[in-house]
Amino acid sequence: MTFHASGHASGRPYAEVIGDPIAHSKSPLIHGFWINALGLDADYRATRVVSDDLPAYFASRRADPHWRGCNVTIPHKLAALDHVEDRGDVRATIGAINLAMRAPDGALIGANTDAGGFYAPIAGFDFADRPAVVIGAGGAARAVLFALAKMEVGPVTILNRSPLKGAALLSAFRLKGRALPLSAPVPPAALLVNASALGMAGHPPLDLDLSTLPDDAVVYDLVYAPLETDLLAQANDRGLETVDGLEMLVGQAALAFELLFGMEPPRERDDELRELLTA
Ligand code: NAP
Repeated sequence: MTFHASGHASGRPYAEVIGDPIAHSKSPLIHGFWINALGLDADYRATRVVSDDLPAYFASRRADPHWRGCNVTIPHKLAALDHVEDRGDVRATIGAINLAMRAPDGALIGANTDAGGFYAPIAGFDFADRPAVVIGAGGAARAVLFALAKMEVGPVTILNRSPLKGAALLSAFRLKGRALPLSAPVPPAALLVNASALGMAGHPPLDLDLSTLPDDAVVYDLVYAPLETDLLAQANDRGLETVDGLEMLVGQAALAFELLFGMEPPRERDDELRELLTA
């Protein structure tokens, strides 16, 4: 549905994901699955909001007592910051929000659950002081580097089409390491993360030689379409631990769900949810 300032009249608590385009978003499927599983009397839907309508959107939703908040996706992740209180200093760190929600005191606050969603599947590993490699230097890479800095990983090598962008991110997150072009060989690392669009359907493949990685390395691909990227297939062939992009997608949604609806989602039903998401 496309946003109209006349608003929404379901009379039930609701949240939504806003962006333009928005039809491809998997958020309604994920949140809808949890709402049904928990038997909540609530809605979660996708609303197309064009950039010119963003101020009117937030003005109308602020006045709607049933609205719990919204996930925010392309192209509004930065612009939405102007409409919320930035209590967590997201602008100065990850630089973009993916969630706007009502705080208990009624204020509308911005948050970013991507870094937490990225971290959740690897929380059981200890990467402190161990080298990491990140491919990409866009918005997703910022969330990854924010988490890696918190995890106090060792030196980080960023491989990116534009190494200068990578160097700027290393300095922004005060990470030791270096930024190199994509053609540079992969250095030995305990964790390798693809946070670029390479390997995603419609984009060129990611062509890396993983032979330098130790046998206990973890390879994490943020791309989730396709689910098994060439990178993950190559890592699986080498017997390395792998994490796919759906784990982060569901992880960031789980943190948002709790903030929006005040309940933990039923993560014990992740297998069913993953089946739904890949059907
Ligand atoms: P973005 O801000 O547009 O950044 C794209 C990155 O990919 C940049 O580093 C860019 O390099 C690189 N890139 C794009 N096309 C390229 C090409 N043809 N050759 C070489 N490099 C190329 O996008 P993003 O939001 O960071 O998203 C990146 C990926 O992460 C996407 O696949 C997205 O679906 C995925 N993602 C997944 C999750 C999840 O929950 N699993 C969450 C967020 C994003 P330059 O810097 O040189 O332009």
